[in-house]
Amino acid sequence: AFGRRFTLMAIIGALAIFGCLVLVRGQASDDALLMVVELPVGEVPDRLHTVITRTLAIGVRRMAGRGAIIRKLPAVETLGATAAICSDKTGTLTVNEMMVAALATPAGDSMVEGTGYAPVGAFLKDGVEVPPDGAALALIRAGLLANDGRLVRDDALWRVEGDPMDGALVALAEKAGMGALETRATLPRHDEIPFDAAHRYMAVLNDTPEGRFIHVKGAPERILAMCDLPAADEAEWTARIARLAAAGQRVLGFAARPFAGHTLSPGEMAGGFRFLGLAGFNDPPRPEAMAAVAECRRAGIEVRMITGDHALTAGAIATQLGIADLPRVMTGAEVELIPDADLPRVAAETQVFARTSPEHKLRIVRALQSRGQVVAMTGDGVNDAPALKQADVGIAMGRKGTEAARQAAEMVLTDDNFATIVKAVEEGRTVFDNIRKVISWTVPTNGGEAIVVIAAILLGLTAPMTPAQILWINLVLSATLGLALAFEPTEPGIMDRRPRAADTGLLSPFMVWRIAFVSILFTLGCFAIWFWGEARGYPVEVLRTLVVNALVAMEVFYLFNVRYMHRRSLTLTGVRGTRAVLLALAVVVVAQIAWTWLPVMNAIFASAPLDLAGCIAVVVAGIALFAICETEKFLLIRTGLMDRLDD
Ligand code: ADP
Ligand code: MG
Repeated sequence: AFGRRFTLMAIIGALAIFGCLVLVRGQASDDALLMVVELPVGEVPDRLHTVITRTLAIGVRRMAGRGAIIRKLPAVETLGATAAICSDKTGTLTVNEMMVAALATPAGDSMVEGTGYAPVGAFLKDGVEVPPDGAALALIRAGLLANDGRLVRDDALWRVEGDPMDGALVALAEKAGMGALETRATLPRHDEIPFDAAHRYMAVLNDTPEGRFIHVKGAPERILAMCDLPAADEAEWTARIARLAAAGQRVLGFAARPFAGHTLSPGEMAGGFRFLGLAGFNDPPRPEAMAAVAECRRAGIEVRMITGDHALTAGAIATQLGIADLPRVMTGAEVELIPDADLPRVAAETQVFARTSPEHKLRIVRALQSRGQVVAMTGDGVNDAPALKQADVGIAMGRKGTEAARQAAEMVLTDDNFATIVKAVEEGRTVFDNIRKVISWTVPTNGGEAIVVIAAILLGLTAPMTPAQILWINLVLSATLGLALAFEPTEPGIMDRRPRAADTGLLSPFMVWRIAFVSILFTLGCFAIWFWGEARGYPVEVLRTLVVNALVAMEVFYLFNVRYMHRRSLTLTGVRGTRAVLLALAVVVVAQIAWTWLPVMNAIFASAPLDLAGCIAVVVAGIALFAICETEKFLLIRTGLMDRLDD
């Protein structure tokens, strides 16, 4: 879109020049006219397209190095405008290394000690070590049977194969002295209903010494509903669930019932179960996620947690993460009661959505987008695909995610980590900055060339540059320094800015001003050195060589100015530049020396060697331009104009 608008402007500009020339000189078919339109103006949109694509591609490579794989190139730019990130909790904001820390059975509460998945740790009741009682063992066995996890030992470290909660339940059984392999081998499984985020439980059918039983584990409310308990008991269990969840623990409920059949179907799960109790799993927030959330708050990016977990667990983790001082929690059931018209307002004030299903995610994304926000959303399941497609930046999990989620996403996280999203946003902001830098730097080159040539025609002066010389300048600069800006690192303080509005154009008012201002400075510089040389009596070849070298020198110095758009450039790091900048600079200097002094070049481009005074004049032109631009930037920052112009 930017390229199209720019081309249109170039055509209008060319027509205007054409008109002026006819008026002033009374003729239209001038060689110089062709040069104006074709070389400096006509080439710009084409070149911009290339440099913008290249800058995006470099951003993609950098993000991949930080664990974020971009599947669609324009997503890099969109990421930089992200105003809201909606993230899963388990495994993205938390470490997803579960350990059962608490048990609640009809016989009472107990605590479980240990670290990670290591199958050693004591059972405590009121602070005293006691082996698990019968009620606890029944729960632990249910947790071992309704389970597909396995623990494996890598050197000293225990690791889980399968669901982390399943792994934690295997470790729990081992702590209770119940060998996982033997138990599973002696109590054969006939059928199962695997876990699904939509029904939130897992059920298995096994033969046990007491007969054939269904064991089920899942979201505790869901399991309680299968148990037909008296209202008072159910209320007591609900309170016990709340107590565990409020501490940030992930809670599972367990139940069992005898069953005579051979196969399981969801119909069998409606009722008749005996409630065995609860297990509370520790799943602490990732430390780097906490830092990333804090960074988002500084950067004006709203973070929302959208989870299938219990409201109290989600709220406690959100508080620990610092998502908000007092996170507002809403459940999927509550979301369903809110009409579409009210949802944007409600979603804006809510940081945590708990017990949600994928359809809720889709509505929440739409609601946030209707407020004009660029929304990033994570997902891992097949059912998350519509929400990922709807989000401006759909983010799939590389490890635990499904192929369907990855196909629907713009970005895939190789480490499933929230902090990686924030790094990608930072990189996205950098890319947008760099595209703006490339434009701010590239356009005035051509603008300056065009104005110099036009002014010379209008004033009836000798052309200060030949078409071949303009071609040379464009070639040398775009192949070197034009490339280097795409490699610029992130400017300090980039995450202290607010996200840019979704409809922000590539050109800010500041850039328009900058491009015009610098184009005119380039023109003035060229004429100044031309007249200075003329006064010293140089022949026209030397004068043109002076102009070409001055233009290149000014571009070089201007580049250092553009490298920092929001702060002064005259610092140690600012002057030192990146490797790319320095390499490009070296190439430019060598190329210009060759162009000026090599006889072959003199023959091709009608250039001529310069004397010492000429060389000094060229460098002075560059330094003067740098000084003027830095002063301008300083004044704009000082007066506060920069903040208003640079959106
Ligand atoms: P999250 O957003 O935390 O990843 P999930 O959709 O994975 O949530 O899980 C939602 C709920 O389903 C959990 O809070 C838990 O109660 C239950 N649950 C999760 N995994 C399992 C499992 N493997 N077996 C039984 N129940 C589970
Ligand atoms: Mg999950």
